[in-house]
Amino acid sequence: MEGQHQGQPQDQQADCIFCRIARGEIPAQVVHESADAVAFRDLNPQGPTHVLVIPRRHIPQLHQADDAALLGRLLLMARDIAEREGIATRGYRVVINNGPDGGQSVDHLHLHVLGGRRFTWPPG
Ligand code: AMP
Repeated sequence: MEGQHQGQPQDQQADCIFCRIARGEIPAQVVHESADAVAFRDLNPQGPTHVLVIPRRHIPQLHQADDAALLGRLLLMARDIAEREGIATRGYRVVINNGPDGGQSVDHLHLHVLGGRRFTWPPG
């Protein structure tokens, strides 16, 4: 989209599902919000806790992200959510899928915060 400015509404895409959640146009179980990020429960949880943390700005992938401060705030929000969800002590996982081989299905940067059970490694 032309005329993008960081933090402005024109940084969003009309038809992006996560932009629409950030704008409150489609329902989501929002657990936390800040000026530039939103966290909500995943529709198809892969554990007892599964929260997605997204920037309000439309950034398609981690690979297109260049705002180090924003990325830091997203990570800190993920950490704070783990604390609020009561999974910090036992441990949790923060995942960013990038592109087809990474398993990314929604083209809007998101961090998965997963916990409440023991995850295996390596991932499938
Ligand atoms: P990824 O495969 O890493 O792109 O993750 C996308 C995630 O978004 C999946 O875990 C989906 O279950 C989740 N998801 C898709 N649509 C929604 C929605 N409307 N509300 C909440 N989670 C969603």
